Amino acid sequence: MKRNIKTHAKLVGIIGHPILHSWSPVIHETAFKFTKLDYQYSAFDVLQKNLRDALKGLSALGIVGCNVTVPYKEAAMEFLDEISADARLVGAVNTIYVENEMLVGHNTDVDGVVEALKPFREQISDQSVTVFGAGGGARAVVYSLISYFRPEQIFVVNRDTSRAELLKKFFADSQNYRNIKIDELHNLNEGEAIKKSKLVVNATPVGMFPEVKENIMVDESADLDGKIFFDLVYNPVHTAFLKTARKRNAIIVSGLEMLYSQAAKAFELWTGVAMPLEKVRAKLDQKFLDASEPKERKVAVH
Ligand code: NAP
Repeated sequence: MKRNIKTHAKLVGIIGHPILHSWSPVIHETAFKFTKLDYQYSAFDVLQKNLRDALKGLSALGIVGCNVTVPYKEAAMEFLDEISADARLVGAVNTIYVENEMLVGHNTDVDGVVEALKPFREQISDQSVTVFGAGGGARAVVYSLISYFRPEQIFVVNRDTSRAELLKKFFADSQNYRNIKIDELHNLNEGEAIKKSKLVVNATPVGMFPEVKENIMVDESADLDGKIFFDLVYNPVHTAFLKTARKRNAIIVSGLEMLYSQAAKAFELWTGVAMPLEKVRAKLDQKFLDASEPKERKVAVH
């Protein structure tokens, strides 16, 4: 029987748990086709207890590199040999490449956040911002905001306030940024933070497939006219968070914008070749939108 296994292709991939929601494989596979690079991208569902061994295995198996996704962007750092300056300042990695058997960690989520919010730079600067979440994605958002958008203050709203306190201390120490205020998720001040903010970001997985009806924002009273709502969740493209915001006249930015830009940067780190992003988007934008519709809901995009 003929089997479709490429024995010479270089291997890259993504490590996370869960991993089925990820659209990174289809983006990279499409880019490999356009560039005719002989690479394959695989998804590895790795349990916490196996994270160290999985990362160690990258160089042993000759894997070129990998993306790291929820929930390992912070935890993966302790198993790496080198960490780029950006990733160190974020306190999280989302891309690893293997160089001379050494694991080098990067954070291309920063590139993703900066590209997604670039059109709104002037509107955000010197204003208040609310970020839901305090994990790896939230750290990339907060770092990007402090470094490139300079908001006056950042409200970090999280379930676990001690994790948010660690984030606050991290950026006070590393960036000398002292205007982070912590709030516990779904307490009474949350509506107040949103009211004061020009930009509201969801950096939690709430609303991600398959729990597409969930919304991190429970306050239905705030007037959102002219505010910018950015969801890091990209599957579905239009989350419940973004749909609510759009209904109440906010400007919305989908996590898909960030996903493409962080992927392009990772692709270049691994291959040394620029991702043909316009071609990739022309091929995939509609597919991702179709896959987001409940009627035709699919786990994977082919
Ligand atoms: P993470 O490091 O595991 O952090 C998750 C954060 O979400 C934590 O603050 C956690 O709060 C909070 N959270 C988790 N489940 C929650 C729930 N049910 N209710 C309220 N809060 C909850 O994950 P991450 O890497 O930051 O990723 C977060 C999301 O962003 C994921 O959906 C990921 O796919 C997405 N993301 C997208 C892009 C992109 O390119 N578009 C890039 C990065 C991340 P606790 O601290 O209280 O547990």
